[in-house]
Amino acid sequence: MFDCHVHTEFSTDSSMKLKDAIKKAKDIGIGLIITEHMDLKYPVEGNFQFDVKRYFKEYGYLKNDKVLLGIELGLRTDCIDENKIIALENPFDYVIGSIHVVNGIDIYQDYFYAEKDKNQAYEEYFKFMYECVKESDFFDSLGHIDYIARYAPFEDTEIYYDIYSDYIDEVLKILSNREKAIEVNTRRINDKKAAENILTILKRFNELGGKYVTIGSDAHNTSDIGNNFNMALDLVEKSNLKVVYFKERKMEYI
Ligand SMILES: [Zn+2]
Ligand SMILES: [Zn+2]
Repeated sequence: MFDCHVHTEFSTDSSMKLKDAIKKAKDIGIGLIITEHMDLKYPVEGNFQFDVKRYFKEYGYLKNDKVLLGIELGLRTDCIDENKIIALENPFDYVIGSIHVVNGIDIYQDYFYAEKDKNQAYEEYFKFMYECVKESDFFDSLGHIDYIARYAPFEDTEIYYDIYSDYIDEVLKILSNREKAIEVNTRRINDKKAAENILTILKRFNELGGKYVTIGSDAHNTSDIGNNFNMALDLVEKSNLKVVYFKERKMEYI
């Protein structure tokens, strides 16, 4: 197994040491792909960006078959080319494409939701995701499709596929047509309702021709590495998809 989504010190919001991450992964018998945050044009200047050359310089010597070096790129419609250059002109093993900032606001922030009801906010999120994914053909797996459900200030933050199926289907179709993977982000799947809603999306991905899944904890500290992986495997099995990871941008089966 590989944990395909882990943040260490090169990410603005993590202080985990690579050596500690490697030790934890070794202890629990899994491989690791480091995926540092790169959100170009982030609203707070310099946040969620890192020096890619320094990353390879400092981490390159620790790379091996079980420790791979990737990136989590924040997708946006206004820096498609800049993101593409980062993804294609550096020796990453793996590139996650994620939606964090929607129309200029990190959806982690409360004010993204100001004067919006849940449907308005979630439709804006999925519409933006669709536009980004359509224009961005340089990532390997779409990160945490349920990211908005982590932070939205509504009583029920769950993503019900039926309500947003128009946009979700378009996103899944693009991924499937391009033979890209979708991530099962394990952060929320210990919640039964969250797991059910993710499973619906995974099954739909399979129906639309999708085949591949990456599994990632999105750990920012060692205790989260490999979290809920058995639950993730169960969801993948139920949706008839294959678990993969990426090495030198090539898909590897687990
Ligand atoms: Zn993310
Ligand atoms: Zn992340």
